[in-house]
Amino acid sequence: MAFRISPVWWPVLAVASPVIVPWLLVRNHHFQEDRARAAELNQKRMSQADPLEMPELDFLELTVLVEWKTEEGFMSDAGVSYLFKTELGSMLYDVGFGPTCPTLTRNAAKLGFNLDQVEALVISHLHCDHMGGIPAQRSRQVTVPDELMSPELMPCFLPDRAKAKGFKAELVEKPRLLTAGIASTGPLARSLFMLGFTEEQALLARVKDKGLVVFTGCGHPTIEIILEMVGRLSNEPLYAVCGGLHFPVTGGRGNRAGIQFQTMIGTGKPPWQRITDEDLSRTITAINSAGPKRVYLSAHDTCDHSLDRMKKELNAETEALKAGATYRF
Ligand SMILES: [Zn+2]
Ligand SMILES: [Zn+2]
Repeated sequence: MAFRISPVWWPVLAVASPVIVPWLLVRNHHFQEDRARAAELNQKRMSQADPLEMPELDFLELTVLVEWKTEEGFMSDAGVSYLFKTELGSMLYDVGFGPTCPTLTRNAAKLGFNLDQVEALVISHLHCDHMGGIPAQRSRQVTVPDELMSPELMPCFLPDRAKAKGFKAELVEKPRLLTAGIASTGPLARSLFMLGFTEEQALLARVKDKGLVVFTGCGHPTIEIILEMVGRLSNEPLYAVCGGLHFPVTGGRGNRAGIQFQTMIGTGKPPWQRITDEDLSRTITAINSAGPKRVYLSAHDTCDHSLDRMKKELNAETEALKAGATYRF
């Protein structure tokens, strides 16, 4: 689809423009203010970050429950849910669209997974594709399908204030170890035009004989900022970068009613500007200079064009994550 908004909508937009244009101007004002606030906050967090004591893990295993790309027989959607296991325990990172899509429940059933098997839930950020669907985002309440719930009251580590139905909600205010030997970068901020001020936490772990492995949700704070924070938290070499980097350059995933929402919301730019190949080139250069050996990309917020460019241009061995697959570090 070449147009980000189908021509079918253009007459509606033209008629509504006396309302839309002033709204966009006001929104842009807040967006610019939040941009300055996010940059300042991230700098402050970096300057206050001390090196983290992280255990050296013998193994770290990631099983993908929800992703855009899948192994044969697994359901796909534009959400994210990753299960981590180490010799010290296990945790679930994000719950996709939760009970509003059948993907998480069906893929979890196929893999024989439920929350009895983990010690904690971690939410990367408070967007519908990570915290359990649009009603969950609207009510700021992480929501997990009933079928997966455990009778144990386990912590849900959050990057910003929110509730978590059936969990002990715990705000992660700064970098710290969470559980299973896996740490959080603490919240990192980004101003998003439509979605507002967004806090996101990435995960990091230290694997024996390899180095640091970093996992992102949507990657809204930008991978550059995330890796800068990781560098403050550990001197270990970077082994792998995994997860969403948000590069819908030629199109978004999960388009609805002829509108490519991902190319306009969640990008850190006003909706009249696109994410470009030049933006992607800068990020490729930044990842190459950070020098990971492996990169595992999430296709839930990145188009095939961007995935192909990264596979060709990144120095690391690069592939896309697939639901149903297990990756060992
Ligand atoms: Zn996402
Ligand atoms: Zn997001």
